[in-house]
Amino acid sequence: MDSKTCIQYLCAMIHNFNAGPSILPKEVFEEASRAILNFNDTGLSLLEIGHRTPLFQPVMEEARSLVKELMQLDNDHEVLFLHGGATTQFMQVPMNLLNENDVAAYTETGTWANKAIKEAKLFGHVEIAASSKDSNYTTIPKDLPVSPTAAYLHITTNETIAGTQWHKIPFDCGVPIVADMSSDIMSRVLDFNKFDVIYAGAQKNIGAAGVNLVVINKNILGKVNRSIPTILDYKNHIKEASMLNTPPVFAVYVAMLTLRWLKKKGGVEAIEKINNEKAALFYNTLDSLPIFKAPVAKEDRSKMNAVFVMDNELLEKEFLDWCKNEGMVGVKGHRSVGGFRVSMYNALPLESVKALTQLMKEFALKKG
Ligand SMILES: *Cc1c(COP(=O)(O)O)cnc(C)c1O
Repeated sequence: MDSKTCIQYLCAMIHNFNAGPSILPKEVFEEASRAILNFNDTGLSLLEIGHRTPLFQPVMEEARSLVKELMQLDNDHEVLFLHGGATTQFMQVPMNLLNENDVAAYTETGTWANKAIKEAKLFGHVEIAASSKDSNYTTIPKDLPVSPTAAYLHITTNETIAGTQWHKIPFDCGVPIVADMSSDIMSRVLDFNKFDVIYAGAQKNIGAAGVNLVVINKNILGKVNRSIPTILDYKNHIKEASMLNTPPVFAVYVAMLTLRWLKKKGGVEAIEKINNEKAALFYNTLDSLPIFKAPVAKEDRSKMNAVFVMDNELLEKEFLDWCKNEGMVGVKGHRSVGGFRVSMYNALPLESVKALTQLMKEFALKKG
């Protein structure tokens, strides 16, 4: 079959619940593959042109301005596309914001928060403002005492593995807020200007692996007294308009296409409505079927990554086989948690959640 039919074939067959890298809109894949062969009718591939040429420069500019527009950022907030994944931000944030003798407050909500905490300790003192370790990370802390002298408070807005999400951001904590939004960036409307740093690996909600979105309030910079290597200093990236060195051109291009798609869909507000609909359908079904159990506290459930289990491991295996037969991929839980995890990122259509919940009902009827 030719590539067009092949894409349509896949469209009809696969429901992609992968946690990351994860589903992107089909039209993004189509346009990105065209750009690899023949970018903007130049006869050249996107991968063989200079990043400072009039061909690529507008891609970076459009990607940055779409972020500003979709997140409604003010002029203090700069948009960068950087290398190294969200994991690099775990260290780049404290390197740029935390002096050796100062304290940064962190919330300990799961695997990802703990990775951020580990790196911050290399640069200064860390105070755990709140932890949900006692509940095995099935909750989000409600009480959050932060030292008024802390350089910032770090939160992981959505814990991709634990399946929890901050539904109320602690904006009133009294210090600047830094957020790892890797797995729920642009999935819901928030007052993004109230954050001093937002970072997100692109590969969950806004693009391909290989690039990081970093939104930064420039007023927070320039306050540490260590020397920062050129490539890790946010100030240099801001000065060079996110072109300090060769950016990951393809990943930036895919992000730009995904942001265009989001804008066409009606932006963050419109996608939030669909995300709410997907999550409600999924969790209502889950709660109505006693064969499935949800470990996460109801009020802290993630709308992006839903985690669930069954009491019987043999049945779990059988359910996975059912999913596989129906073309549902990415349903198996993370190796550290077990059970199931379904990711319902922006690009996942409501139809996929309808198909999954239908299958869950049939399974419960037969095995329950
Ligand atoms: C996936 C993920 C990361 C890691 O991203 P990389 O790009 O692989 O470094 C960090 N934080 C959260 C919340 C994630 O979901």
